[in-house]
Amino acid sequence: MGLIVDRRDQHFVLFEMLGIQELFQTEKYKEFSQETFEMLLEMAQKISEEEVLPRYMEGDREGAKFVDGAVQAPRCFHDLQKIMVEGGWFTMSAPVEAGGQGLPYIIEKAVQEHYIFNMAYFMYSGGGVGAAQLIEKYGTEDQKNKYMLKMFSCEWCGTMVLTEPEAGSDVGALTTKAVRQPDGSFRIYGSKIFISGGDHDLVTNIIHPVLARIEGDPSGTAGISIFLVPKYLVNDDGSLGRRNDYSIMGVEHKMGLKGNATCAMSFGDNGECYAELLGEERQGMKIMFNMMNEERINMGLQGTGTASVAYLHALNYAKERVQGKGLRDMGNPDAASVPIIKHADVRRMLLWMKSHVEGMRALVYLCAYAIDRKNSFEGEEAEKWHGIMELLVPITKAFCTDMGFRVTEQAIQCYGGYGFCQDYPVEQFMRDLKIGSIYEGTNGIQSLDLVGRKLGQRKGKDFMNFLGEMNATITRYRDVPSLSGIAKEVQNAVNLLGEMGMYFVRCGKEGKFMVPIGNAYPFLMLMGTVSMAWLLFWQAGIADEKLGAIYREKGIDTSDGKQVRNFLKEHREAAFYHGKLFGAEYYISHVLPEIDARAKAIRSENLAFMNIVDEGFASV
Ligand SMILES: Cc1cc2nc3c(=O)[nH]c(=O)nc-3n(C[C@H](O)[C@H](O)[C@H](O)COP(=O)(O)OP(=O)(O)OC[C@H]3O[C@@H](n4cnc5c(N)ncnc54)[C@H](O)[C@@H]3O)c2cc1C
Repeated sequence: MGLIVDRRDQHFVLFEMLGIQELFQTEKYKEFSQETFEMLLEMAQKISEEEVLPRYMEGDREGAKFVDGAVQAPRCFHDLQKIMVEGGWFTMSAPVEAGGQGLPYIIEKAVQEHYIFNMAYFMYSGGGVGAAQLIEKYGTEDQKNKYMLKMFSCEWCGTMVLTEPEAGSDVGALTTKAVRQPDGSFRIYGSKIFISGGDHDLVTNIIHPVLARIEGDPSGTAGISIFLVPKYLVNDDGSLGRRNDYSIMGVEHKMGLKGNATCAMSFGDNGECYAELLGEERQGMKIMFNMMNEERINMGLQGTGTASVAYLHALNYAKERVQGKGLRDMGNPDAASVPIIKHADVRRMLLWMKSHVEGMRALVYLCAYAIDRKNSFEGEEAEKWHGIMELLVPITKAFCTDMGFRVTEQAIQCYGGYGFCQDYPVEQFMRDLKIGSIYEGTNGIQSLDLVGRKLGQRKGKDFMNFLGEMNATITRYRDVPSLSGIAKEVQNAVNLLGEMGMYFVRCGKEGKFMVPIGNAYPFLMLMGTVSMAWLLFWQAGIADEKLGAIYREKGIDTSDGKQVRNFLKEHREAAFYHGKLFGAEYYISHVLPEIDARAKAIRSENLAFMNIVDEGFASV
């Protein structure tokens, strides 16, 4: 059994559910085929299981070290870097002209799902490719030749330098200054914190995109520009010049991602920090935001990928760990003990994890695929999917990081006391994933984005389109006898989501702004839960058809429970579809009802958290 990603489920989402084969009909991707993608995913699984997973705990134990003002990445990341870069694993969707493979974005995400759980490692070169994409889009020809090509090839890395001690969520409050030079370059002055991969020794140069304000420009986000600040200046012939004037002030000691250096950086202590403007002046936030959707989908992928590896480890453990008697032998001390997967409570935890992982995978892939649809199709369909993607990005980011974290916590629970110890990797999965709800815009900020901007974008058309998609799926499968029960539940949930959207609009009109603002996070989780139920129901519809076809072909009498069970033990494909049906049934029956409680709480319009005075939180 694979321990990182269920490849069969990946195949299901990509080809049986989303039908990404339609991309091969487009001009952009006509050279590719399903076989190429399957082969890539198989290779990704192999490399991840053989190279990435074995170095996971080692990287954590060694950690990134700060020695004499510079960072040393964990030793085991050095040879991993060689393997991953040679294999081209970071340049999947980079353009062919830039040395990439020009693959669809959805395939890049599916490949990355195999190793993104090792985010401490992944962020070094992954960040570099993200920064290269910025240059590809906004850089001059000179910047592309000088920096971008080497960043795409991972010969150099890159970062994203936004955060300052007093400017975290509120990026507009930043004070880092850029001073114009007669030759058109700039000098940077200021301090930044929490910069992932801010320094390390995996590559010879690091290019930092830095947000700063040009002297005299307005305060707030409108006055922010973005600059390229290389660690070593690059000479005209491509060789490395002087070390730029910034220093690494220290590396954070964190609860997770210990192998990645989270740096405090000081720019321009000697007045010589060279920087080049990227794009136009005062367009820094717009440029950054252009990358935001993809970055936030990546965070959703981190949540899903880590949840997946945690779930599969817990499942594997539950099959091996023998403890306690089976229900029927409870009173018999001499009966043989059973693997814990036989216990009802463990089965409940496993199915809770499975349904979450598979729903989140579908959500992240759907979002990623919407980007490919936008890029390769034209007209209303492309526009519709772009709108739905924009709407779903904050949910994908926040829901998948928060629920992914809870999956890792449940995985620890399945291991019992061993899960709490460092002999197994599950405690690290949880530690490493916690950051997902904090960086790339905290999950609180994501919910404000959803409620404050996305719900009403294009006069609510995207929200309506999304509801329309969900209703269409329900219509497709609601008359299937075995699905009609859960179809009703999903229909009620979609109706409730629509009502809550309208309710927030009414609150706004009636001046009750604090109801949607204060309940933005519960609403995001409600919408995430409904989206998951929809996706799992959609999967159940496909699974039901396919399982029925297998039963018919093999002459299985479905009224004979024993025959069905025996058949499923032997027939992996049938067992897969059978598992899909039960995953959906579980989620819709046991998890989806939580939305009623959330809706009730929101509609109570109780604003205790606003009405309580600050001093009332504690009397000390
Ligand atoms: C390991 C790690 C890696 C990181 N990597 C990078 C990186 O590579 N580059 C980079 O630039 N930054 C990076 N960051 C910084 C990260 O993006 C910030 O920590 C994050 O944006 C939150 O900012 P903050 O820590 O200042 O928290 P704050 O902004 O102080 O937020 C604290 C709390 O208040 C809430 N809050 C704040 N404002 C509001 C509001 N208006 N409404 C509602 N709630 C609000 C937040 O949601 C949060 O719960 C990293 C951080 C860590 C820990």
